[in-house]
Amino acid sequence: WVGRMTSTEMKRILVCGAGGFLGHHLVKRLKAEGHWVRGVDRKKPEFEESPADEFFMTDLRHSIPLDSIYENIDEVYQLAAEMGGAGFVFTGDNDAAIMHNSARINLSVLEACRQNVIPRIFFSSSACVYPSLDIIIREYLKEAGVLPLGKTACMEEDAYPANPDSEYGWEKLFAERMYAAFARNYGMQVRIGRFHNVYGPLGTWRGGREKAPAAICRKIAEAEKGGEIEIWGDGEQTRSFMYIDDAIEGMIRLMNSDFQGPVNLGSSEMVTINTLVDIAETFSGISVRRKHIPGPEGVRGRNSNNTLIKEKLNWEPKIPLEYGLERTYYWIAKQVIDVKAKTV
Ligand code: NAD
Repeated sequence: WVGRMTSTEMKRILVCGAGGFLGHHLVKRLKAEGHWVRGVDRKKPEFEESPADEFFMTDLRHSIPLDSIYENIDEVYQLAAEMGGAGFVFTGDNDAAIMHNSARINLSVLEACRQNVIPRIFFSSSACVYPSLDIIIREYLKEAGVLPLGKTACMEEDAYPANPDSEYGWEKLFAERMYAAFARNYGMQVRIGRFHNVYGPLGTWRGGREKAPAAICRKIAEAEKGGEIEIWGDGEQTRSFMYIDDAIEGMIRLMNSDFQGPVNLGSSEMVTINTLVDIAETFSGISVRRKHIPGPEGVRGRNSNNTLIKEKLNWEPKIPLEYGLERTYYWIAKQVIDVKAKTV
């Protein structure tokens, strides 16, 4: 299991989920760094061609260990999962698919990595592993002296005792433990990052699987002057959002480090959904009326505590929300215009 390469050498890298948002951006970055990349997914990237040297269309749930996709590979980034925003994850309608499909992907990919003696594997976990204990309760407990100060953001150890608020979170927790168990029992080198809400251009922006920043940018880009947009809940639920470039940087840094994780890969900057709307409005130049409707809100508040990542990687995500949201807004606004032009 000793790595076959140093971090400066050209590596042969397999990206599982290379047709997805993070996977496609990762392939672009790895290619720009001069690596040889094989992408695997059940679909191609939606908005542009993959620059991968090879791209296999495969259902990773049925991946077999001796499959040629694992041949001569130095590193595997495992990003494939049944995935979506709150409208996909928190309604309950997709629970069976989320648990079954993502678990099968992880079971088969990890076993294939073991049998192929892959030197290093990154697993993409999520902030959804954290318990649903929301920030208001945490603040209350903190004031009452029950929790030590500084416990409002999710620290890695907060994942236990476990109580994720979605089946998506439970599957991620199971998978994290399985990767850690393979590392323990088979001496494999695994890296586990817990992503917190990643956003940016080339991400899903419509269709039900989009996340809050993309959904809000789309609603504002589609709204007429003085128009109305719908927001799930009162909009005071808080999140932290990490720009895609930070997510890719963090993932590669963690992969190249000696730290196994799990570690948060997220922004510690906390915003409400209403603030997100305020910022997006400034790019569109129009202000919209907000209609608050019942909907799947997810947890009330959550952001990333970056103490551990700063300690282990001497780095943390730092691209400001305004910067990332502006790029995302203009990319989505262009998609909206292109779609309108096609339907006229
Ligand atoms: P995404 O949905 O864009 O990408 C996931 C990819 O996996 C898709 O292209 C999908 O086609 C592929 N996939 C799903 N099932 C497959 C199968 N059976 N066989 C082959 N391919 C399959 O999601 P993303 O935003 O790029 O997320 C990447 C990873 O990071 C996921 O594991 C996700 O759970 C995790 N994550 C992402 C975020 C975020 O904010 N984007 C947050 C937390 C965790």
